[in-house]
Parts: sequence; structure tokens; C-alpha cells
Amino acid sequence: MTIEVDFSVAGKRVWVAGHRGMVGSAIVRRLAGMDCEILTASSAELDLRDQLAVRTWVAARRPQAVFVAAAKVGGILANDTYPADFLYDNLMIEANVIEASYRNGVEKLLFLGSSCIYPKLAPQPMKEDALLTGPLEPTNEWYAVAKIAGIKLVQSYRRQHGCNYISAMPTNLYGPGDNFDLAGSHVLPALMRKLHEAKLAGAPEIEVWGSGQPYREFLHVDDLADAAVFLMETYCGYEHVNVGVGEDIRIADLVRLIAKVVGFNGSFRFDASKPDGTPRKLMDVGRMKQLGWQARRNLEQGVASTYEWYKDRM
Ligand code: GDP
Repeated sequence: MTIEVDFSVAGKRVWVAGHRGMVGSAIVRRLAGMDCEILTASSAELDLRDQLAVRTWVAARRPQAVFVAAAKVGGILANDTYPADFLYDNLMIEANVIEASYRNGVEKLLFLGSSCIYPKLAPQPMKEDALLTGPLEPTNEWYAVAKIAGIKLVQSYRRQHGCNYISAMPTNLYGPGDNFDLAGSHVLPALMRKLHEAKLAGAPEIEVWGSGQPYREFLHVDDLADAAVFLMETYCGYEHVNVGVGEDIRIADLVRLIAKVVGFNGSFRFDASKPDGTPRKLMDVGRMKQLGWQARRNLEQGVASTYEWYKDRM
């Protein structure tokens, strides 16, 4: 397949907003071998929720391309506990970065969202056009509403100002740089940590939230970073694009898979007092395949390499 280049990062100043996060740091790794100047700002240097600070920084640094990988993120409990932070922080970050990019002539921008933008009961696998066809999953609707607003911002700047700005919606991500704090993290790093600690302590069982019955899809963050650079260089459509692997796994089976990698031989206790969240959110990755991109990393290998990363940092 011949893939047409729409915009090349070669020779450009490329801002990775949110470069300290799991996604942003993976994009920086992916860009490192490419011929471009990577711009970054730590949160101490630049608070992305501060409109004036963002405008001033972008005007001074003049990026030509922007990856919007900055966001307030967290697992099911964190979303449910801090709704105002998840909505306000994410709205401010995306609005400030997109508006400042437009004002300063950024040529191409990629906004990253999440698969939770789709309705709770969207037909599976979820196609891009399922957006706004039904009610959201209540445990993460705050984050979802902010990310939907981001997609619409990108589309509105394209429509009103002719900006070549695009959006990608990754499925659940994991990999190096993930958050392993049990109160705030997503399921995969949480289970990895619980299993690792139980193994070291010789504990007979670990606690798994919910019923274990929901399905989730997991994409390695280095695959996402690869997809993000691919879309930045080749995609210029109005619609957002799903980025996933196209298959999912039951939480109960995910626990077994991680337990095997970690070497934990005990049992699992499912805590029904914790929320299950949406029953399933499998991405339809047809559009991405049509564009010429597919995920490469297998879940078990990805979990194994992430576990190595985690142990090195303990
Ligand atoms: P979600 O994809 O937005 O629902 O976020 P999570 O990754 O936090 O949760 C996914 C699923 O894993 C939910 O059904 C959780 O109840 C379940 N789960 C099981 N054990 C855990 C755990 O220790 N931490 C988290 N965050 N989720 C867990």
C-alpha cells in the first residue's frame, strides 16, 4: 500500500504537550530518532490550564506541529471521585492548547482522546460514528464529555479557520510510564502491582474490583505513539480515528494473564462493591487499517516488558 504523506515532521519544531505522562513520553521516544526538534515544557514551567501562560509559551516557542498528549487521567475510581477535576482540567488544557496553536500558526495538531467518548451501550465493536448516539457510562462521563469537547474543538477550528487539526481516540493504554498508584490507576497497572506485592509477601489471594466480567481492550503505549506519528504525517480528515488492537479480554482473564507473567500462584477475590464500569468498549479499527496502520505488540509480551520496567523502578 502506498501511504501519502500529508505533513512531514522532518525539520519541524514539534511540541509534545504532556511529555512527562505515559503517552507523551512514548511519543517523545518515537520522535527521538526522527529529524525534528522536540519542544517540551514541564508542568512547573507551564500550567496548561492557564490560558495566558499557554499563549505566551506558544508564541515564544513557535511550534509547527503539536501532539496534545496532556490530560488529567485516571482509573474508574479516580474519575468517579474527582469529577470536577476531570472535567475542568481537561477542558482548559485542550481549549488553551488548541486556541494558542491556531493563533500562532501551528500547521498540524493531533488531539488525543479516549474510547470512553462512546455511549455506554454502543454496538460492539465501536465505530467512529457511534459518537453522540446514546448516554455515556456514568463512572467516567466527566472525562468523556471533556474529550468529546476536544474532538468538537478540533473540528470547529478546521471548519471555521481551515486548520489542519485532527483527532485520534486510543483504547485503554498500558506500558512504561503508567501510573501504579492503586487509588488512581487503571486496571492493568493496578493488578500488576497487587500481584507483584502479593507474590513478594507470599499472600494467598489478591482483590480484584468488580465482577471480573467486563471486557477491556489494551494497547501498548509504544503502539499508540507509532500510530500518533503515523496520523500526524498521513491523515488530514475531519473525523476522529480509533486507535486500538481490535480485540479485547475479560478482566478475569487479564488477571490470570498478568499472574502468569508475574509468577503469582494464589487466587483472586472479586469485590462486587467496586464498580464494573461499562460492560465492553471494543474499538472498531477498520478506519486505521484502511489508512495502512495496525498495532504490532502482543498483550502477553507487552505485559511482560512492562513488568520488567515496573520491577526496575521499584
Ligand atoms: P475503565 O476502563 O474506565 O472502566 O477503567 P479501569 O481500567 O480503572 O477499570 C477497568 C475494569 O477493571 C473495571 O471493571 C474495574 O472494576 C476493573 N478492575 C478490577 N480490578 C481493578 C483494580 O485494581 N483497579 C482498577 N482501576 N480497576 C480494576
